Amino acid sequence: MKILVVGSGGREHALAWKLAQSEKVQMVYVAPGNGGTARDARLQNINISDLNTLAAFVEREHIALTVVGPETPLAGGIVNLFRAKGLKVFGPTKEAAQLESSKDFAKAFMKRHGIPTAEYETFSDAQQAHAYIDAKGAPIVIKADGLAAGKGVVVAMSLAEAHQAVDHMLSDNRFGDAGARIVIEEFLAGEEASFIVMCDGKNILPLATSQDHKRLQDNDQGPNTGGMGAYSPAPIVTPAMHARVMREIINPTIAGMHKDGIPFTGFLYAGLMIDAAGNPKTLEFNCRMGDPETQPIMARLKTDLVSVMEHAVNGTLDAVELEWDRRTAVGVVLAAAGYPDDPKKGDVIAGIPAETPESVTFHAGTTEADGKLLTNGGRVLCVVGLGDNVKMAQKVAYDAVEKIHFDGVQYRRDIGWRGLKH
Ligand code: ATP
Repeated sequence: MKILVVGSGGREHALAWKLAQSEKVQMVYVAPGNGGTARDARLQNINISDLNTLAAFVEREHIALTVVGPETPLAGGIVNLFRAKGLKVFGPTKEAAQLESSKDFAKAFMKRHGIPTAEYETFSDAQQAHAYIDAKGAPIVIKADGLAAGKGVVVAMSLAEAHQAVDHMLSDNRFGDAGARIVIEEFLAGEEASFIVMCDGKNILPLATSQDHKRLQDNDQGPNTGGMGAYSPAPIVTPAMHARVMREIINPTIAGMHKDGIPFTGFLYAGLMIDAAGNPKTLEFNCRMGDPETQPIMARLKTDLVSVMEHAVNGTLDAVELEWDRRTAVGVVLAAAGYPDDPKKGDVIAGIPAETPESVTFHAGTTEADGKLLTNGGRVLCVVGLGDNVKMAQKVAYDAVEKIHFDGVQYRRDIGWRGLKH
């Protein structure tokens, strides 16, 4: 069978890589893909971004299944469109994707269904927002309501920073429509974890746990990024914590969406903050897999992902039991010079080691030109290493990372540090 993966990042390379391992698969198309998906003989890039043109391609090529990576096409209604044409697609509808595409929607949903999250208010009036901040004090968190490519959240440690964030979003329109409404919420302290499940509308299948590293530099210093690395599993999510998150967050979310008449299908990602007393709260929902969490998670998945996806689109996920590699996977992101503000493009990438049973390099911001592999975006590669524990997985990953060269490469040396602590 033929499969389509929509997207161009490291997440999509990892999904396509895993799907292509299935004996059921003849070809995995990636739209638009990257330099890595272009180089793999089992994958083929197609340069189509318009959703109607993509649907026509799927019909013409008799593609059996489409898996959508990023949030933008989901919020744009790719699932609604494909389903209306009778095409099998895994992801949430535009309506269900509001869990990610509108923070106000997500917060009101959580409040309505008793799902633990930070206390909040929504504002479109700057004066009222400033008054709320003065009443609440700092630290406090300001969030643009809409999609802002991971840049719409300001964790303000001072009142001045908080007021400035309100001005940027509501008065200066820095995020356009996405920032025309803002959510202001309570600052939560603790340790974050990524909790991702697959849902077919009624059955829920949890994936392995993971932790992302959002800051650019070691020791969680520097600006926020799309994610500089991730590892799986995350030891903070003990079996007891896992059961509690399912009971208090995931199950009520899926049930709540059902009750509200917008059943959720697709990957549901709950970003958790677990406080010092071990209480989990929901920081955010994403309606897709995380990038870079997908890379270590896919490296650990032993079950045939195509079979899992078939069950997911047919509403039979209850028949699936996932098998995971018991080893830890550490994924280190190699970013371009200037990332995250102004990433440099066009540098030659050399030295990517061949895949082994212990390590694999997924591409993100790469492209091929005249037979050369060039940097083409902020996050360029994600090197995943597997080992019996975090330390051993780190060693494998960093040994591979050190072989890779491009001008101005930046990466963190401490991916997985929280795992070492536990
Ligand atoms: P992305 O989609 O890239 O994960 P986003 O723009 O949707 O990010 P959030 O995940 O809501 O934004 O927030 C980004 C980061 O800000 C979180 O990972 C967390 O580190 C921090 N953050 C968000 N809300 C809070 C909060 N209430 N208290 C403390 N930190 C927070």
